[in-house]
Amino acid sequence: MPGEFALIDRIRARAGRRPDVVLGIGDDAAVLRLPPGHDLVVTSDTLVAGVHFPDDTAAADLGWKSLAVNLSDLAAMAAAPAWCTLAMTLPAADADFVDSFLEGFLELADEHGVSLVGGDTTSGPLSITVTAHGLVPAGEALRRDGARAGDEVWVTGTIGDAAGALAQWRARGPFSAKLRHRLDRPTPRIAAGLALRGLASAGIDLSDGLAADLGHVLRASGVGARLDLGRLPTSRTLADHFEESLRWPLQLSGGDDYELCFTAPASAALEIEQAMAQCGVHATVIGEIRAGEGLALVTPEGQDHVLAQAGFQHFQGVH
Ligand code: ADP
Ligand code: MG
Repeated sequence: MPGEFALIDRIRARAGRRPDVVLGIGDDAAVLRLPPGHDLVVTSDTLVAGVHFPDDTAAADLGWKSLAVNLSDLAAMAAAPAWCTLAMTLPAADADFVDSFLEGFLELADEHGVSLVGGDTTSGPLSITVTAHGLVPAGEALRRDGARAGDEVWVTGTIGDAAGALAQWRARGPFSAKLRHRLDRPTPRIAAGLALRGLASAGIDLSDGLAADLGHVLRASGVGARLDLGRLPTSRTLADHFEESLRWPLQLSGGDDYELCFTAPASAALEIEQAMAQCGVHATVIGEIRAGEGLALVTPEGQDHVLAQAGFQHFQGVH
């Protein structure tokens, strides 16, 4: 079995290198050159086996997802991804695992021009922590606290697919490969996030479930919202596998979609639709921000819908 340094060499040999990486993997720390007039946007996420992914997840999917969840955070801040670091805790120095992991990780990194510039390699129960760094023109990051009464609430793509896959995996019954792909290989909405600069008033990515994540925006902005459940964007595959009443809990409380939820004044709607279309992303208005607090959910029949479960929280044993 290779040791720590042999593993690091394998990683170093495959990591890309942007011109703004003054010093990458191999020294005590990376040195990165920031363009003038920009803010640095930094985010970190950990994936723990058995908590954040099913234990049968392929190494390449794990590599992809560990970076994707971080790039999704950058997208939600309207930041352009630039660099990342990778801290791996591995039960064994398994070179095959590391190679497959890197395949998925670097495929996504290359897609977005992100350089892997450092990390840490330790032994222990499988856990992956990625930190991603993005750039945004000074003062232009998209925050959670800008939603205003009257704004529309939007969501990109379709929601509930990843939660559907998780529900099928837990039931150990028939499953949809399409849904499972959404769980294992989420698409960070980078282009959409960048296009929302100057258009959206607030934004967040959907990692813990729409109700919980939109709830963060509402609290940060000091407003409430009303969502029309009939407008939740639903994939054909999810609809084929789950009837409406089973879909809502997946779409509202299930996490892992990594779509963007954002708010914007109604006057920006046309421009947003065009901007999203240019990124090849469909975005849907699902409700509106209103004065007050709390999230009201309304069924297509006009009835109030009560949420069974808010969303995932560590230490609360919800999942
Ligand atoms: P130190 O002991 O000084 O922290 P390490 O031996 O941990 O240095 O790491 C050596 C170099 O390899 C550093 O540049 C570090 O960032 C990089 N590195 C270690 N593990 C990884 C990894 N999993 N992915 C990418 N770079 C790594
Ligand atoms: Mg170290």
